[in-house]
Amino acid sequence: MSADLEEFAELIDNSQSIVIFTGAGISTESGIPDFRSPGGLWEKNRPIDFSEFLQSEEARRESWRRKFAMEPVLSKAKPNKGHMAISSLYERGKISAVITQNIDGLHQASGIRDEDVIEVHGNTTYAKCLDCGARMELAEVEEIFSKAETLPTCGKCEGIVKTATISFGQSMPVEEMRRASTAARSCDLLLAIGSSLVVYPAADIPLMAKQGGAELVILNREATPLDAYADLVLNREIGETLASVTKL
Ligand SMILES: [Zn+2]
Repeated sequence: MSADLEEFAELIDNSQSIVIFTGAGISTESGIPDFRSPGGLWEKNRPIDFSEFLQSEEARRESWRRKFAMEPVLSKAKPNKGHMAISSLYERGKISAVITQNIDGLHQASGIRDEDVIEVHGNTTYAKCLDCGARMELAEVEEIFSKAETLPTCGKCEGIVKTATISFGQSMPVEEMRRASTAARSCDLLLAIGSSLVVYPAADIPLMAKQGGAELVILNREATPLDAYADLVLNREIGETLASVTKL
């Protein structure tokens, strides 16, 4: 094993309370495209921001069209080696929380309990009423939408229904951000995995861990703006690297 991987394995062995922070890079290995990357979907299709979604029925229709166009890819995606390595550390009791910028639900699919996954950008595998928060399943939305692109409304309060994600221009979820910052400040090791660490405020989370006295490891294919704060930076493939240090 090379020296950097040995150091990584040792940091994990010596920690009791690890917080995982993940971004799109871990899920691209499951075939989920990184929308923000150069050439990604958001370069071709300008993201619909939250105020537009609220104001315009056509924007809402366009947003559901895109959602259902992506659905075959998303619904087939399975957790990969990287997700499974994290879940094996979780089963060993090493992980106190998984904070993720991803909206794909793959950490839960890998065996992390719902209550231990903090989704700072929400979740695209179901929908929610923007007024009362009632959950609505995608199958139900799709059935309604398939009839002449009828927009779904909440069964309880007739409010606007949207995927349970955080859009551009939508405020960050207060409770999730509070839980994420508490988890980061109280861990002894934070692993930032597959995130370019440029989308604020979520990218502040690794720094909160450092301020709380934790060690910081950044595993990402490219350099990040927080590399200078990290105790160890690994520019390597994610799944393979995690699998080798967790001995999967
Ligand atoms: Zn409602």
